[in-house]
Amino acid sequence: MTGILLQPPPPASASYIGRFAPSPSGPLHFGSLVTALASYLDAKAHQGRWLVRMEDLDPPREQPGAADSILRSLDTHGLHWDGEVLYQSQRVDVYQAQLDTLIQAGLAYPCNCSRQRLQNLGGSYDGHCRLHPPASHTAIAWRLKLYDLPYGFALPETIGFTDVIQGVQAQGLRIAAGDQILKRRDGFYAYQLAVVVDDIAQGITHIIRGADLLAVTGRQIAFFLLLGQPAPTFGHLPLALQPNGQKLSKQNQAPALVDTQAAQNLWQALHFLGQNPPVDLRTSHCEELLSWAVAHWQRTAIHGLGHCHKPE
Ligand code: GLU
Ligand code: ZN
Repeated sequence: MTGILLQPPPPASASYIGRFAPSPSGPLHFGSLVTALASYLDAKAHQGRWLVRMEDLDPPREQPGAADSILRSLDTHGLHWDGEVLYQSQRVDVYQAQLDTLIQAGLAYPCNCSRQRLQNLGGSYDGHCRLHPPASHTAIAWRLKLYDLPYGFALPETIGFTDVIQGVQAQGLRIAAGDQILKRRDGFYAYQLAVVVDDIAQGITHIIRGADLLAVTGRQIAFFLLLGQPAPTFGHLPLALQPNGQKLSKQNQAPALVDTQAAQNLWQALHFLGQNPPVDLRTSHCEELLSWAVAHWQRTAIHGLGHCHKPE
């Protein structure tokens, strides 16, 4: 099947469920506050619910205490979530069950390609193990087929979607994405599996997150479609960069937010998002800033992918 699939916009009456899904690899920093705040404001401005999901599926990259510290910071900034926090570490049975179903449907297959071989491919997997299945005793990863699917399944070659911040996107599945890892060779479930399974389980309708995930959105939409589910609406925020142009992230030791300056942090994050709180709110508490921001939230004020620096 060829062509571009454009997702129709969801009906205006559809209820809104958004989420913030941090990985606990370090404390909340300015970049993750921007993501939390934007996803919160977009949900609340649409009378929606805002959930928090802890993506603690990758212990080697996690920092002890980071999950609690992130939740404490959200609370201190007045970003109160609806319902219980969902911890991915408690859902491995659900991920395994989904993987088993995909294997039975012929949509998932084992791969034992070496790290070296994958590196030489430079990004997108070439489907080698579809034709050369690994011997059963070797350590294997599991991959999801995104093209040349078994009988009864179909995906377009290119996924088209309208990002509510970045505009119209088209992402190829075979060349740009390639078959995706569902379970790693070390036994951990992959982000690409858990994120879609959980967005479906939690009924997420809108995903506002950092632009570092824009490039993987097409393959995630494809996964929703394979599972027979409508894809949510996506919006990707510009990334907060350090003055040297590097992404502000936990991996490169972005400084933790100072919780005693929560209102100032929110003020800066609102500016970063192009929202323009009036100066007389400059010394307000978090609650007042947030209620102004919900009432005045404008997606169109967010500038695109550009090189936005954290304001001083
Ligand atoms: N846990 C991912 C991260 O912190 C985000 C996942 C998502 O929003 O889809 O980068
Ligand atoms: Zn392989």
